[in-house]
Amino acid sequence: MKKILYPGTFDPIHNGHIDIASRAAELFDELEFVVAVNPEKNTLFSFRKRVRLIKESVSGKANIKVNFFRGLVVDYASSNGYSAIIRGLRHVSDFEFEFQMAMMNFHLNKNIKSLFMMPDEKYIHLNSSVVKDVSKNGGDVSAFVPPCVQKALFTKFSKINTLK
Ligand code: ADP
Repeated sequence: MKKILYPGTFDPIHNGHIDIASRAAELFDELEFVVAVNPEKNTLFSFRKRVRLIKESVSGKANIKVNFFRGLVVDYASSNGYSAIIRGLRHVSDFEFEFQMAMMNFHLNKNIKSLFMMPDEKYIHLNSSVVKDVSKNGGDVSAFVPPCVQKALFTKFSKINTLK
């Protein structure tokens, strides 16, 4: 069985992530989103909520699974039978970071291959920070995120704005 991991922060998941995952899942028997648990990183949503939002967003896709990991992604990959990782590439600026990470992962475990995919052009400028910024200021993000994420953002920012 050909399986691939899709690791990331996904704070929150957006349509660019889903585009990569959906197209990669056509090439493999199974794709697993894995949400990085990193308490030092200041995320808007807890990792459990990020996992729930991904699950809801991809609930119709039978060969896409969702989980989370702590520590090194190569360790999670090798202990769960994965030999490939997929990452999205939007701009040249992504390339530098992704290249460094792929080289480090290769150094850590030569059995794990890093694959890269470009999104549909309509998602090329999309990232989670922009989605959060627009939503925080009352903008419409429905073209960029699934409805469950839009709702979660609205609820989160309504709470934050009420507390201010
Ligand atoms: P981001 O905050 O940039 O969305 P993540 O860590 O959640 O960062 O991203 C996980 C993976 O998804 C990374 O490989 C990242 O390059 C990729 N990715 C993020 N946004 C997009 C997009 N709009 N199109 C394609 N890939 C993307």
